[in-house]
Amino acid sequence: MTIRDMTRAASELADIEINPYEMMLQQLDMVREHTDIPEGIWKILRQAERALEVSVPVVRDDGEIEVFTGYRVLYNSARGPCKGGIRFHPGVTADEVKALAGWMTWKCAVANVPYGGGKGGVSVDPSRLTIGELERLTRSYTARIYPLIGTRRDIPAPDVNTNAQVMNWIVDTAGVLKGEATPGIVTGKAIEMGGAAGRREATGRGVMVVTLGVLERLGMNISDARIAVQGFGNVGSVAAKLLAEQGASIVGISDVSGAYHCPGGFDIEDALRHVESSPGHLLAGYDAPGVESISNEELLAMDVDVLIPAALEAQITAGNAANVRAKVIVEGANGPTTPEADLILGERGTVVVPDILSNAGGVVCSYFEWVQNIQCFPWEEEQTNQRLGTIMQRALDEVWTLSEQRSVSLRLSAFILGVERVARAVQMKGIFP
Ligand code: NAD
Repeated sequence: MTIRDMTRAASELADIEINPYEMMLQQLDMVREHTDIPEGIWKILRQAERALEVSVPVVRDDGEIEVFTGYRVLYNSARGPCKGGIRFHPGVTADEVKALAGWMTWKCAVANVPYGGGKGGVSVDPSRLTIGELERLTRSYTARIYPLIGTRRDIPAPDVNTNAQVMNWIVDTAGVLKGEATPGIVTGKAIEMGGAAGRREATGRGVMVVTLGVLERLGMNISDARIAVQGFGNVGSVAAKLLAEQGASIVGISDVSGAYHCPGGFDIEDALRHVESSPGHLLAGYDAPGVESISNEELLAMDVDVLIPAALEAQITAGNAANVRAKVIVEGANGPTTPEADLILGERGTVVVPDILSNAGGVVCSYFEWVQNIQCFPWEEEQTNQRLGTIMQRALDEVWTLSEQRSVSLRLSAFILGVERVARAVQMKGIFP
């Protein structure tokens, strides 16, 4: 089958619902023919180590009881304790959490931090909850996944719709249950509770570092770069702000409420002020000189140098990949590009910088926070940012070099690097009993 045939077949699949776990396994299977990992080890790598599904009862403010479904998955702990965020979103499913935990496993290995991969989530629309209900949901969920989490076992962090406040409640709940302070059980906490200065910005900062490195390698100048960012939350807004500070023009931004185009480049601080002060913290209604409203599909198809999908998975699919005009895609979100879309983009010569490399800044800084908690010795923010930059540049170097040596895409190169590192640890530790 030629790439053209595969592309056509992929387009026909466009309307089929995308299962993130199938997507992650498809990416994993691409590695097989490029490595000599034994068949038995593959069987281990294709399965999550532990997957917990819990019911999460919450008393609403009006006294009614509602029960949500929550998950925590420890995908593979061969390289260290599992690490991964917690997501509150109505689209959370067992398979989504498993996929995200798998991606965390390969990502921690690509960044070469001593962690396995985990992930958690609750299927809930948090915008329907009051602040009190959100706190009770967080504490109820924490108590029910408590047997799995721990400073040396599995360390959650923020993800979609969770933030430092949610992490603070998790630390407190775990501390009460354990009867002792356990700051290292979670990262992304408030600095006052042992959080790392720079953690909130770390994923966006990592996206910025990788974008600069890739543009330099492609002979493109950051001050000439026009960039569109899908998702204006933690990752997207920080990446946009830091890239604008580096001289890039951010000409497209979007969130769940809508997308906007500003040919002259957005004043990102102004857009952030709008989000801060608007109900629901959304871009909805954003108006400034030169800004026009566009659709989400138009944003993804903008004629830009760099597109940064920083919202959710499966945004660039077989159905819309052919419309993407960006020269480079830097994945801020986890799994924003489906394997079918990857084929189409590859044929068109689009450089796709994969999530397990480009958004690893968050977990790298989480690692720093965990180290500081264990040592009870906080670092200066400057030191954190500098070490983050060093690790991200090293990871990009390794992925780029391997991609050139093997003549494979950056995604395949990152997967080969990450999966081989995990496979080696799995082989070395052996199988209990
Ligand atoms: P967030 O909740 O802070 O922001 C998500 C943003 O995406 C919001 O602006 C939301 O409105 C927007 N959005 C949601 N659906 C959308 C849609 N259909 N179209 C356009 N925009 C949409 O979440 P975040 O922490 O920034 O995470 C974003 C992505 O980055 C997720 O895939 C997450 O797993 C990944 N990620 C996050 C971190 C981290 O440290 N927070 C680290 C690595 C990867």
